[in-house]
Amino acid sequence: MSATAGRAARGEDEVVKKMAALLKSGATMLEQTCPACNVPLFRLKTGEIVCPSCGQRFVIVSSDEEELEVRGNLTLQELERVAIEKLARVAAELRAARDYSEVSEALEVALNLLRVVEYARRIRKGA
Ligand SMILES: [Zn+2]
Repeated sequence: MSATAGRAARGEDEVVKKMAALLKSGATMLEQTCPACNVPLFRLKTGEIVCPSCGQRFVIVSSDEEELEVRGNLTLQELERVAIEKLARVAAELRAARDYSEVSEALEVALNLLRVVEYARRIRKGA
């Protein structure tokens, strides 16, 4: 926590510049402030909410239920992202595989990762 606060105090000018840039890009300044830096948060055009100081992303929600849903979606997105990263690695391993046992091992991992991606997407879309 102290590292974040230190970073915020150090670059006050920088933060102001970032805020100006955010506003210029069409972002909106919010009433809510970053709990770590105590500066106003900004809602980007994409709907994402960021702190101009520490760059942390936030989710502002109105109810616990909504919060749970949003948090769940973020977790699923993260899971999907990690699975895709790993898939790239598995693809490289598959390319380098020298025998069928290595191939089938890599394929099995790939299939499991694909299943994760598929489920994560399906759940996120509520299907
Ligand atoms: Zn912050």
